[in-house]
Amino acid sequence: MAEERDVFLRARGRTLSAFREDDECQWKAPFYFIQGADPQFGLMKAWAIGDCDNGGDEWEEEIKLTEQAVQAINQLNPKPKFFVLCGDLIHGMPGTPWRKDQEQDLKNVLKNIDEDIPLVFVSGNHDIGNVPTPETIDDYCKHWGDDYFSFWVGGVFFLVLNSQLYFDSSKCSELKQAQDEWLNAQLAVAEKQKCKHVIVFQHIPLFLQNPDEDHDYFNLEKSVRHELMEKFHKAGIKAVFSGHYHRNAGGSYKDLQMVVSSAIGCQLGEDTHGLRVVIVTAEKIVHRYCSLNDLSSRGIEKELMDLIKQN
Ligand SMILES: [Zn+2]
Repeated sequence: MAEERDVFLRARGRTLSAFREDDECQWKAPFYFIQGADPQFGLMKAWAIGDCDNGGDEWEEEIKLTEQAVQAINQLNPKPKFFVLCGDLIHGMPGTPWRKDQEQDLKNVLKNIDEDIPLVFVSGNHDIGNVPTPETIDDYCKHWGDDYFSFWVGGVFFLVLNSQLYFDSSKCSELKQAQDEWLNAQLAVAEKQKCKHVIVFQHIPLFLQNPDEDHDYFNLEKSVRHELMEKFHKAGIKAVFSGHYHRNAGGSYKDLQMVVSSAIGCQLGEDTHGLRVVIVTAEKIVHRYCSLNDLSSRGIEKELMDLIKQN
């Protein structure tokens, strides 16, 4: 059992044990990774019965979709460097009845990922609560590893953030402050070191389309958003990848791309269940959302894979 647990607990000590900084801080060659969001075991049933707060006692559909995602990823050749899941792993909020079973069922699916493809977890509002507390965050960390951390892959610096601390930190202000201080130190590293790119993962998007759009459930409050965007821009961050919206969306702020990916699980718009393929070359970050069906049957489009070979 020890090995199985390790797959889910690689984020420790504010870094990811799968990648050693000494080996990974230099640019080598173009690579790619896979981003997924919101498997959210339980939402499809809850949504279908129109009770998102108390529904969600079944998640067979989500199990099948996540299995399809894992199988599609395992078939890819060459292999992606990692598979990041941008939050809302399960639907059951802290303290609700089906949470434990949803977590276990998700782990049972994810443990089948190819052992050479590290899983990277990002905490969502359903994972730690809309108003997180030290207890809910601690509980998340016991199951999925640190709620915020950084790691290097092939000369690219990745930051995973706990966006709930920017959404509502009224019950955990010390933890918010700790993440802020840590983030400032990380951004200083990013500014100073010669990383090819800096990329952020967080569950809640900074914004969905426009940096000045109004605040609602699906984005961050305007002043918090602007402070973060400006910080990110100054540190040379090129892209922020998020989920939470269950639709594809995105926009830009100066040279920072905001990328919002739809869900593996429940769709709230017209998109299909899918994953985003992200290609990182020396010059740019190119990404495309692929339906699970396309990815399973055809793999990644040649045009995208050529970007890895060319450089
Ligand atoms: Zn969410």
